[in-house]
Amino acid sequence: MRAVVVTPGQKGSGRVEDIPTPERAAEQALVEVIDVGVCGTDLEILHGLYGEAPEGDDYLVIGHENFGRVVEAPNDGGDLSVGDYVVSIVRRPDPVPCPQCAAGEFDMCSNGLYTERGIKGLHGFMAQYYTEVPDYIVKLPGSLAGIGVLIEPLTVVEKGVLQTEAIQNRMTWDPKEAVVTGAGPIGLMATLLLRAKGYEVFTLDLVERDSHKARIVEACGAEYVKGDEEPLAQLAERVKGIDLIVEATAVPQVVFDAIDAIGPNGVVCLTGVSAGARTLSVPADKLNLEMVLENKVVFGTVNANRRYFEAAVNDLTKFEELWPGLCCRIITRRVPVDDFEQALKPRPGIDIKSTVSFSG
Ligand SMILES: [Zn+2]
Repeated sequence: MRAVVVTPGQKGSGRVEDIPTPERAAEQALVEVIDVGVCGTDLEILHGLYGEAPEGDDYLVIGHENFGRVVEAPNDGGDLSVGDYVVSIVRRPDPVPCPQCAAGEFDMCSNGLYTERGIKGLHGFMAQYYTEVPDYIVKLPGSLAGIGVLIEPLTVVEKGVLQTEAIQNRMTWDPKEAVVTGAGPIGLMATLLLRAKGYEVFTLDLVERDSHKARIVEACGAEYVKGDEEPLAQLAERVKGIDLIVEATAVPQVVFDAIDAIGPNGVVCLTGVSAGARTLSVPADKLNLEMVLENKVVFGTVNANRRYFEAAVNDLTKFEELWPGLCCRIITRRVPVDDFEQALKPRPGIDIKSTVSFSG
């Protein structure tokens, strides 16, 4: 079968290869891949910054934002049938397992020995087929077939928001205003989710007001804020008491501006991965004082376990009811596997989420 593979650690080694189609074990499903989204993690693996081949292989099939259809169900039938649309969970528990992995909360793994399909020790989904056990497969209604590839990025945001709600159980909380920094795929998923939950949402980016991203922000009833015209500090003065900031740029200055801008009792949820080594001067006394005197919380979040995938399926369905066709506009490019490199080069001002698509 055709697959996009890398030699881990080797920059520029990304290539399409014919590799053996995986053989399904009795308890597994065989899934035909339809779409695989490309994100920053894939680019970093292709640049040789990280990525780990499965034991015994010298290559790694990349791709973790997956969407496909069951072509062979597990022998015992169970909940999966041929033709079901499915998304596979990315992370697998560590073999020890740590207390979190033992409880199915492998997104919170505490010893770092977890594996991740397409990233760390397991082949990914940028191939015509994969096999998986039902524990790591989540079904989608057919109505989401065109946008199922957005489930995985949405799970990251689901976790961030559900964790925020868990944290805020510390107090009586009636949130009204949320700010999202960055209008990329994660920022847009956060914008839609917070709007669907009834927040007044302000999404900040640097793109033009008539850009594709800004229009999607406004189409769901959020306000697009152009960060070079109204920086976060100024927005905080206008909004007065921002309850939640979902940070999705990973730009160090924006991260600390968010900590400064969050209102009393508010939460800053950091979702961006910074792969660089940038340093920054910050007003440390002021930030500490405000965090203490105003009970602020800053936390980071990564990955997602099964319950966040299930929440994402429900919420993506809700987005389609609230704003029919809007999510489809986030997927701006689909390229066939043999042209996968095109999906790695976003067209400025046009592309939001590019996918590698398999004819199936
Ligand atoms: Zn663990």
